[in-house]
Order: sequence, then C-alpha cells, then structure tokens
Amino acid sequence: MISRDLTGIVPVQIFYAKGVHNLLKDKHKRLRPRALIIIFILIFLPMLVMVVIRMESEQPSVSFELPSKFIGLDKQLEITLEDHKSGLKRFWVAVLQDGKETTLLEKHFPAVGILHKGTTISETIRINIEPQKIDLKDGKAMLRMMAVDYSWKSWGKGNRSYSEMEIIIDTEAPIARVLTHSHNISPGGSNAVAYSLSEPCDISGVQVADHFYPGYPNLEGKDEIRIAFFALDNQRDSGTDIFLLAKDRAGNQTKTDFPHYIKTKKFKKDTIRISDRFILGKLPEFQKTLAGQSLEEPLDKFLFINREIRARNQAVLIKLMQKSDPTTHWDGTFLRLPKSATRSNFGDRRTYLYKGKSVDKQTHLGIDLASLAMSPVPAANTGRVVYAETLGIYGRLMVIDHGYGLFTMYAHLSSFNVPVGQMVKKGEIIGNTGKSGLAGGDHLHYSALISGTFVDPLEWWDASWIHNNITNKIERSGEGE
Ligand SMILES: [Zn+2]
Repeated sequence: MISRDLTGIVPVQIFYAKGVHNLLKDKHKRLRPRALIIIFILIFLPMLVMVVIRMESEQPSVSFELPSKFIGLDKQLEITLEDHKSGLKRFWVAVLQDGKETTLLEKHFPAVGILHKGTTISETIRINIEPQKIDLKDGKAMLRMMAVDYSWKSWGKGNRSYSEMEIIIDTEAPIARVLTHSHNISPGGSNAVAYSLSEPCDISGVQVADHFYPGYPNLEGKDEIRIAFFALDNQRDSGTDIFLLAKDRAGNQTKTDFPHYIKTKKFKKDTIRISDRFILGKLPEFQKTLAGQSLEEPLDKFLFINREIRARNQAVLIKLMQKSDPTTHWDGTFLRLPKSATRSNFGDRRTYLYKGKSVDKQTHLGIDLASLAMSPVPAANTGRVVYAETLGIYGRLMVIDHGYGLFTMYAHLSSFNVPVGQMVKKGEIIGNTGKSGLAGGDHLHYSALISGTFVDPLEWWDASWIHNNITNKIERSGEGE
C-alpha cells in the first residue's frame, strides 16, 4: 500500500521491501542459534549446573570422641554426622569380632523434591555399646562405621565415608591386692598403703569419705605396684569409709576393703581476741580482695576475711596439690623451725572473741612456731618449690612438693629465697619468718598436707612414726609379693 502513495520512490520502496525481506531472512538465520542459546541458558544450563551440583563428591563427615580404645561393660558413643551439600542418606555402625559382624545401628534419612536431596544436614547419634548383650568376648574387636549421602555420584550410590578402628573389649574389673598390714590413722593423721593391680589402671588410690588420694608407682618403677599416701580430715571420726579404689582403662571399677583402724582424737580449744586495732592494721593487705564488698564495720571486714577469703585460699591450695611428683624427694624426719616455741597446735578449735563476744569459729590447720623476728626458715625436707607468692590469710606463702602427694607449707613469711620450680634440699633456707597475712605477730605457720588435706605435722617430726607408718611400707612395696 505504501508504494502507491509514494510512487516517486517506488524503486526505493522496492529496494526497501527487498531490503526488509533480506534483512528478515538474515535475522531469521541469526535468530535460530540465539534462541537456542537462550533456551540453553534458560533450561539446559541450570540443569547442567544442577547435575554438576548434585554430582558433588564431598563425603559426609563423621566425628566422635573415643579417647581410649578400651570398652567396658557399657560405653556410650556420641557420633556427629554432617553433609552440607546433598544431605545424609544412611548411617551404619557395626562391631566385628572373630569374623562375626554385629550391627549396632542402621539409620536411613529422608529426601525430598525432584532433585531427591536429603533433608538432614547434620545429626548427633548416641549409641550404647554393651559387649555382653551382643555376645562380644573380652579381647580385640573392630568398630566399623559408614555414612552415605544423597549425591548422584557413582550412579546415584552417593559419597560414602567408611572408617574402621580397633577396640579392646574389657569387661573384667581390676583386682587390687593390699601388700601392707597395719593402717592406723587418727583424725588429722596420715598413713600409707601399698597394693598391686591385676591390670593397668587409669585411676587407683585410697578413697576416704569424699576425698580421693591417688596411688603412685613404686620406686622401682613397677607399674603394677603402687603406694598411696592418704589422710583423715581432722573433722572426721571412726565411722569414716576408707577403701581402695581402682578403675581400669575400660572404666571397670573395684572397691577393695583393707584392714584399717581409726583412732579417736580430741583437739584442743583456743581463744583468739580480735581488736579494731588489729583489724585496721591488717586491712591494707586485704584492700584488693575487699574492693566491691559493701562492708562498713571493721568486724564485718574481719569476718569476711576469716571465712570467705580463708575458704578461697584453701581451695587454691587443694587445687595446687592435685598433682605431685611421682617419687619421694624427702628422706628421714621433717625439720622444725630451729629454736622456736609452739604457739598454736594443729587442729585447735579456735573461738574468735571481739569485745568479749564470740564472733567466729575456725580450726587451726597448722602449727604456729615463734622465734626471733625474721628468722631464717629451713625447708623441712627435700622437695620442689611449687608456690611462692602472697595468698590471702597466709600472707607470703611458700609450698614445697615432697612427692607422692605430700606437701609442706610456710606462711606469714617476710621474704622468699627460692623461686617456684626449684628443688630445695632439707635444711636449705627458703625465706624468713614474718607477720604477713592474718598474723598477729612474727611467727611461722607451718602446715603439712596430703593431696590437699591438712594433716598434723607432728607425725612427720617423729622418726619412729615415719618408719612404722610410711617408710617400711614403701620398702615393702619395693619387695613386691
Ligand atoms: Zn597459724
């Protein structure tokens, strides 16, 4: 129609029409591959990408903690499974022993959608291995585990992670045989027992009420023969439970009674008079610990120190004494501060009087020895310095580890001579007496402890007591059975 109205330009029109035709023809030729590319981009590429994604080859992760390969009467195992790309499909655990495989657990996980992806990305599974219920014998076995995911890899079989580990079934409890005969102990007293173990044990020692005293290898290095120093807290009585405890590597535990006799003991009473002058004179040392406490009166501040700070300081010592050298550094009787007078005994039941009234009660857990001011203090016996710093009521405090759980401590010092970690010989000067901490005047507060329990130092100053109760047992442990 256009050509009639615009005759003058018909040729052009024809040319134009021809041009359009050619153009359309060309466009058509060019459009086909483009459409294909678009179709490819819109449909096939995503599919290809999806296939590549779904063909991923990352294995599911399986993690668990089995610190010991020994399995006792029952062992709970917590296993964490993860598969972030395709999701978990299947998990299986079995035990193999003498060619017989026993499945402990088999679990299938669901999948959804046309891509059949797993819905479980991670899961924690708890299984209980009870060897006797599944007819496993004591001895070696193999723990096998396999996790599979929903990947399309391996023609849809998925990625697998498989692991095997050797375990040792041990359902028998260890047997502890006591090698020593006489074990007499009084409240605040110490003692020792030697025993042999039928198999290696992770934990063995003496349980006294709620406190455990670990056994140490005997001096010849025979691992099956052990010696444990133990103590009876000064507040306990003849009704206290005392027994040997041994736990093997699989967690099987035995309690073994051993002959013992608990003596009775009466402790002395003592009265301590507290004045405002004494309290105010001591406060600068406790300024830091009292900061943040809304305590106004001097007496309230004193009571906080005498109760709360005392308990905190003792907790520090108990923690410090959980570890001791597995040997006896010491030899013979322990030394007493030379030329000194005893001012307070171990176990004294103290009543604190303030303005004539009883305000507090505490037990004195050491012996107070007074000599000249700033007297040199000898190490009571050979050992390793494990503490030399200021600790609350004890002031400047030094602690020596003599091995096998036996420690001595020296409180209220004015100075230290030896750094932490250093070995000191019996009689070597380790510092000077003073009145740091909650001390009224210059003196040495001397304590002995076994694995964190305060004991009466008197026993350790007595040569025949040491021989009868300790050293002859160590010797006996060396002879074996
Ligand atoms: Zn004291």
